[in-house]
Amino acid sequence: MRTASLFAAAGVIAPALCNSKRTPIVSSEQLVKLVKLEDLLAGSQKLQDFADAHGGNRAFGGGGHNATVDWLAEELEKTGYYDVVKQPFVELFSAATVDFSAGGADYKVEYMTYGPSSPGTVTAPLIAANNIGCTAADFPAEVTGKLVVIKRGECPFQTKALNAKAAGAAGAIIYNNIAGALSGTLGAVGDYAPTVGTSLEVGETLLAGIASGVEGSLFVETIQENRTNYNVIAETKGGDKNNVLVLGGHSDSVFAGPGINDDGSGSIGVLTVAKALTQFKVKNAVRFAFWGAEEFGKLGSFYYLKSLNGTLGGSAAEVAKIRAYLNFDMIASPNYVLGIYDGDGSAFNFSGPAGSNTIERDFEEFYENRGLPHVPSLFTLRSDYAAFLENGIPSGGLFTGAEELKTAEEAQLFGGEAGVALDANYHQPGDTVENLAHDAYLLNSQSIANSVGKYAVSFEGIPRANATIRKRSAEMSRLLARFDTGHAHSHGAPCGAGSVVM
Ligand SMILES: [Zn+2]
Repeated sequence: MRTASLFAAAGVIAPALCNSKRTPIVSSEQLVKLVKLEDLLAGSQKLQDFADAHGGNRAFGGGGHNATVDWLAEELEKTGYYDVVKQPFVELFSAATVDFSAGGADYKVEYMTYGPSSPGTVTAPLIAANNIGCTAADFPAEVTGKLVVIKRGECPFQTKALNAKAAGAAGAIIYNNIAGALSGTLGAVGDYAPTVGTSLEVGETLLAGIASGVEGSLFVETIQENRTNYNVIAETKGGDKNNVLVLGGHSDSVFAGPGINDDGSGSIGVLTVAKALTQFKVKNAVRFAFWGAEEFGKLGSFYYLKSLNGTLGGSAAEVAKIRAYLNFDMIASPNYVLGIYDGDGSAFNFSGPAGSNTIERDFEEFYENRGLPHVPSLFTLRSDYAAFLENGIPSGGLFTGAEELKTAEEAQLFGGEAGVALDANYHQPGDTVENLAHDAYLLNSQSIANSVGKYAVSFEGIPRANATIRKRSAEMSRLLARFDTGHAHSHGAPCGAGSVVM
């Protein structure tokens, strides 16, 4: 085996061997310098290519995601600097072909994940649910045998779909309560009517037709089967294994598009920092994670914590070795804000475990040192950090925004367009390599490097997590009930396709 110094003499970048005396201890300043836009964009293009070769997406259960996972593992393996594991887990895959027309016109509808197939094409009169469809009383006897139209809101889609079935509806069409298409998940297999989502505009058109007795035709054909998925976990061979920094993003996309910002940007940002880190020695071990099946409900990250905390293996002591978790899910939104998770709870009165305040403060300093603005981002428990918060691990991370509209105040701070979504392509076919904010992408990836450089040396200011699984606080339970009753993806605001639960 050649040594690092020989590689260096030949002008070739080579990983720092753990015992090499010449290799410097990592510093934030040095690590940040090694994060280059061209490397980020090359990585993004790779993910785009995987999606293009596999039907336009990198969703769990498909070839685009499998190619992503294999490539990430290979890239990390070939550095020689990491112990790389592809951790398998089996989850129920669910997808469908859907079709809907009413009064002779075709309307765009989206499948609600885990919903059942329809018995062929069901043609029946439309009827509106009373109120918002969250109680049995919202479904009068006349619903029986009809296609019931229900407004989104107040309770999970699952509740509406169960209520529709219990009332004997032939199918359920849930329409959005804000602009945009509506798809999502029923959270788990259950006794539902065939259920689809549609836009507010279509919903209102359908409601207007009900008075004149319009009939609808609904077709849903689903595939549901167990499929194996993988987390990719790469840990530095060197460093103190009792004091570990974990950071990650999710490797899968939704079905609707290639997911190059969500979460190709986080994946590639993290990978790029992982490659840069190979030039240094670390004092604390650093574990890079690429979570699978996030868009199906953060399945990979929750599986990982269960495999660690004693539920499926490991012990509470294994969890306590993780000193901090950093999450990067969407860091290059085209109309971005520079969002930092509100670890100290100062903005949203929902803080992370002790030490999350330090993590937030350290991220803030990175931007402030460059004279750049930042805004706090709520821990909605709708990205992979949720599993870490639930296990009491101090957490933080970056988020540049999804479908929520940019405020005038944010436009003042960051530029971009007020009144336009932070990522108009969120969970859409347009989430491509063409639609990344390069400046935010580079800056945030350098910010990842900054924090990695810091915690690879010291966890000062971050107390060790209690070596017991954290009981859900009342506040956490309230948020989980609000945001996370089923399997949910997401971010600082209600999520779009393939992931929302209510
Ligand atoms: Zn995401």
